[in-house]
Amino acid sequence: MSTIRKVTVVGTGVLGSQIAFQSAYSGFDVTAYAVNDQSAEQASQRFAELAETYVREVPGAADGKTDAAAARLHLSTDLAAAVADADLVIEAIPEVLAIKQETYARLAGLAPARTIFATNSSTLLPSAIKEATGRPDRFLALHFANQIWKFNTAEIMGTSDTDPAVFDALVQFAADIGMVPIPVRKEKAGYVLNSLLVPLLNAAAELAEGGYADPHDVDKVWRIATGAPMGPFQIYDIIGLNTPYNILSQGGERERRLANWLKENYLDQGKLGVASGEGFYKYEK
Ligand code: NAD
Repeated sequence: MSTIRKVTVVGTGVLGSQIAFQSAYSGFDVTAYAVNDQSAEQASQRFAELAETYVREVPGAADGKTDAAAARLHLSTDLAAAVADADLVIEAIPEVLAIKQETYARLAGLAPARTIFATNSSTLLPSAIKEATGRPDRFLALHFANQIWKFNTAEIMGTSDTDPAVFDALVQFAADIGMVPIPVRKEKAGYVLNSLLVPLLNAAAELAEGGYADPHDVDKVWRIATGAPMGPFQIYDIIGLNTPYNILSQGGERERRLANWLKENYLDQGKLGVASGEGFYKYEK
């Protein structure tokens, strides 16, 4: 076990709520910071839904373990109180550099000197944020995948300033909360996962948009010929088509063409993926 005991998660949206719940489920004392009362209300709802999901999907979770997790999980709307005794702060707030920098600048003045700060950012490099933390040696990225109770990788990526002991402590912490730690040895946009996944998803969209092969056939060849359990369009449906659409629309000509194809054929018809009941495939609600 690492020296980390008390964990504070800043941000209680999709990922923040999952990270907080999984950490509490794994035995840590967790405070989840929500920006306001409405956000705290939504967070309670998310935790209740996660408890139900764990009972359904996580082996052994039915034996009162989710109740124990809930008892170790505290919500707060007071940032100073939430981080006053934190060994580790995991930040999962919107993917906007200015909001992150502003939040870290506040955290820098509120958290004890010993506290490690970790960002769950998917696309921002930690070096773009590190100065705002006031403690670049105790700051790094800890990147989870959505639905962390089953897609349980945690990519750990520091900057050139990150203390190797802090990096190692986070590798250990990731393992302690049931993740498979993936150390990323140098800063890399997209970490390992998205460096592989984004080109795959774009190539799949290009095949379908160009009329070369239907989405279901693209998936079929990927599954059968590589032994992978899912094809790229099944992955699109799980991610939700909005996220790739938003990323593609900010790209060059090729990416914007693919974004438009997603919009006209799927988004405009309410086909957003698993969450809406239909994307490239249909799902039972
Ligand atoms: P989200 O929009 O669901 O949640 C963001 C949360 O931050 C909300 O609870 C919001 O109330 C809160 N918030 C807004 N401003 C804040 C502030 N100033 N201080 C504190 N909290 C504030 O977003 P998300 O999908 O959970 O993403 C959060 C982070 O996790 C992003 O950096 C994203 O790149 C990363 N991430 C997301 C996914 C994913 O699949 N959604 C996967 C891996 C990493």
